Amino acid sequence: MVHLKSEREIERLRASADLVGRTLAEVARHVRPGVTTRELDAVAEDYIRRHNAAPAFKGYEVGGRVFPNTLCVSKDDVVVHGIPDDVPLEAGALLSVDCGVVLDGYYGDSAFTFAVGAVSEEKAQLCRVTYEALVLGIAEAVAGRRIGDISYAVQAHCEAYGYGIVRDLVGHGIGRRLHEDPQVPNFGRRGTGRKLKPGMTICIEPMVNMGTAEVYTDADGWTVRTADGRASAHYEHMVAVRRGGPPEILTTFDYIEDVIETPPYKLNTELTHG
Ligand code: MG
Ligand code: MG
Repeated sequence: MVHLKSEREIERLRASADLVGRTLAEVARHVRPGVTTRELDAVAEDYIRRHNAAPAFKGYEVGGRVFPNTLCVSKDDVVVHGIPDDVPLEAGALLSVDCGVVLDGYYGDSAFTFAVGAVSEEKAQLCRVTYEALVLGIAEAVAGRRIGDISYAVQAHCEAYGYGIVRDLVGHGIGRRLHEDPQVPNFGRRGTGRKLKPGMTICIEPMVNMGTAEVYTDADGWTVRTADGRASAHYEHMVAVRRGGPPEILTTFDYIEDVIETPPYKLNTELTHG
């Protein structure tokens, strides 16, 4: 069941989405070598609670397992759902931070891959292509098109670089629940899947691996890693499908971009098209 949101509901989701963007910017202030992801987690939780909201992931249950923290923090070969720990960040790492909030009963969800210190050109390109895939996917979120149009746009762009698109995890609808219908895969065929309608609110979130698309889950039941140990990137926006116009991007990276000098997707990369 896909729940189409009223203007009033979209207004609520806009507020939740804005808080997620501001929370990620608070995290951005602290991302540097030597900082631990547990410290980043505390920054985020404190910020969310001070804004009369609650972390959406903390206590989230899947198959009897409860996620213990506010942020999912995923370093290098971790694709998503990494658990914050006491290991200091090292320069040269990618760090994907996924954040969810619930404000007045409505969820917000967004993810951003940071560079810890300077990263290799190879990693910067992975970030750029993943971000571009997100932008291309969002452009397809137009009433009358289909979920498969989003999926195809994301997949085609990433695979042109020889990257692996993760199949095991997908984007999703969002509203009064964190994960609603429809699913939004990052792979698929044009003109297939559910038709997009005004009032649909979805999270588009390419998870893109430098090498193989294959992943596995650690013994902790959460941490998803690339099968070949190569790096992965993840950007996520919440988007509302609008009547007779372009999609509205509810979340924003603007606050993050105010904090960090150059986001990794804007670093110059001269690697050639795969
Ligand atoms: Mg997320
Ligand atoms: Mg999501």
